[in-house]
Amino acid sequence: MGTRFENYTLDDANAFMGNNVDAVLLVDAESDTYRTLVQRGFLSTFIESSGKYTDLIQKLWFHLNKGQETITEDYQVFAPTFGKFNGKYSKRLKIVENDTPHSVQMTIYPESEKLYLLILDELDNSEYIQDFMTNEKITTIQNTYLFSMYIDLFKDSTSSISITEISDETIQSSIKYSEWRMMIVNMIWPDDQQLFLERTDPEYLKGNLLPGRTSSFDCLMQNLEGKYIWVKLIFSRAETNNSEEDFRYVFMVQDIHENSVQLMSTLKKYEELASKDTLTDVFNHGRIETEIYNAIEIVGRTSRKVSMMMFDIDFFKNVNDKFGHAVGDMTLKHFAYLIKDYFSKRNAVIGRWGGEEFVAVCYDTDSSRILEYAEDIRQKIASEEFEVAGHITVSIGLTELTKDDSLSAAFNRMDGALYKAKKGGRNRVEQA
Ligand code: GH3
Ligand code: MG
Ligand code: MG
Repeated sequence: MGTRFENYTLDDANAFMGNNVDAVLLVDAESDTYRTLVQRGFLSTFIESSGKYTDLIQKLWFHLNKGQETITEDYQVFAPTFGKFNGKYSKRLKIVENDTPHSVQMTIYPESEKLYLLILDELDNSEYIQDFMTNEKITTIQNTYLFSMYIDLFKDSTSSISITEISDETIQSSIKYSEWRMMIVNMIWPDDQQLFLERTDPEYLKGNLLPGRTSSFDCLMQNLEGKYIWVKLIFSRAETNNSEEDFRYVFMVQDIHENSVQLMSTLKKYEELASKDTLTDVFNHGRIETEIYNAIEIVGRTSRKVSMMMFDIDFFKNVNDKFGHAVGDMTLKHFAYLIKDYFSKRNAVIGRWGGEEFVAVCYDTDSSRILEYAEDIRQKIASEEFEVAGHITVSIGLTELTKDDSLSAAFNRMDGALYKAKKGGRNRVEQA
């Protein structure tokens, strides 16, 4: 009778693995499907028992990278569509499910040419996750501080702390702050140079930064490759030794490019949301009104021609009365789509003025050109078969902006023309 240690066989090990590993999946690379052989723990609900393998890999990727869309090269080894697995690969994932983080080891083994085994195993020690996140943070900080130095404004001196990406020229400690400033300003994006000069001005720094305080501003600055990136320029004033002439600062350049770009695209999205009409996806009243103001300003200042048209659907109330409000909405959407589509290649901006009334501001378009456009569109609408509502018609009022126009004057002309079109029997175009 040997001990358990001596009698232990591969079968025991297999049985143990089968009873302890959290998930074993068999993958058929050819059909891109998988089925689970074992599933337990949180993985018993987190993954389906069978399905499309690439979908699963994408889902895991999504969790691993907090929604980041592009799959990195080192992760692609897990997806057969990106290439053949010719070895064993392993990666540790952080999967967050219902706000609970799980640390999971994911390993793929080629079983044969076409079959693979994917093993997912949750690791017990959640400390790993914290560790991992802290490390990530530290690298981020290391990577984002591009450059820093000490400045003494009283001596007009600088001395370097570290030099990395922004400049490969050694900053001599003998360089004067005033000289340094005039050198660095050339690396700043031209539009931001004024701001840079103001905020790095010794008198500004002395007057606006109390001992121990930090102040910063963002601007575009050239990196080593000559590419402009968003950086935060930070000045931090040292605690003073109480002498009147103690103006010592730490200056740092932080790379904030990725975040800034992301933030700007988010802001852009919000800006779009705030200027769009939710039903028809053309500009809303406020935004199109702004457009008219801009157009008036352009016509006043330049020799460009801008004309406007106002649409009012004929007897639209009947559409609602006959088919209901939902069909009315659908018809409005379809209508807006048609005019948007018509103007998509014609340098015009479309907005919903309200209800069933729309406005188009057409740039580089004089009174005879806009008449052609309007007649064209009127006919297009009249011959369009609208779902459920069938045929509808539209009346259109036109006007060209004049040199000394105002919003109300231009609008009144256009509205007057529209009224004339309605009076004249509808499904017509009139110009003022
Ligand atoms: P006409 O312009 O030819 O004189 O007749 P009309 O029936 O189009 O004129 P009116 O301005 O009296 O009515 C416009 C109708 O448009 C009233 C309203 O029920 C409808 N309407 C306005 N906004 C919406 C909307 O967002 N959805 C729907 N379904 N109907 C709307
Ligand atoms: Mg109306
Ligand atoms: Mg109407």
